[in-house]
Amino acid sequence: MPETQFLERILFSEEQLATRVHELGRQISADYRGKKPLFVGILRGCVLFYADLIKNISVDCTLDFMCLSSYSGTGSTGQVRTMLDLRESIQGRHVIIVEDIVDTGLTLDYLMNHLKDRGAASIEICCLLDKPANRKVNVTPKYVGFSIENEFVIGYGLDYNELYRNLPYIGVFKKQ
Ligand code: 5GP
Repeated sequence: MPETQFLERILFSEEQLATRVHELGRQISADYRGKKPLFVGILRGCVLFYADLIKNISVDCTLDFMCLSSYSGTGSTGQVRTMLDLRESIQGRHVIIVEDIVDTGLTLDYLMNHLKDRGAASIEICCLLDKPANRKVNVTPKYVGFSIENEFVIGYGLDYNELYRNLPYIGVFKKQ
């Protein structure tokens, strides 16, 4: 088990996450029947959520990934960069971006601008967590696991300086 002295409290247990991700998978499957969506995971925070989500997708789909970077420690650097781009063309595809958490919205705003001229049939956002209180730009995810307060969270893919992604639950990070 990872060291957890940096944990203030557990916000969502493994069971709560599994239940909600199952619901999201069912909803997306119903919405995308016959559309063969492309799930674009935003590395690295999405990994646990992404894997669990696609296990709950019951329509044909394909998978791809991007890696963007903007965070350092518990604060956004405000500068988003593409570290890894898509392998597949999104021309004519129904794209679902899978993100761990939307905070200021700057990362997804950058991503939507980056993808908008690539000819997708549709692009929607599915995020596990949403922190609407901290939004700086207008980004509206269609599928949201949970809305949370403006607290820094770790676990289930979310890191603090690359640690704690392997926690099976989501917890609030304890400030030093
Ligand atoms: P945004 O650009 O919306 O401010 O931030 C998006 C990215 O910041 C997320 O994909 C995530 O990597 C990181 N981030 C935002 N809030 C948190 C948080 O509470 N905990 C962690 N671990 N990362 C966060």
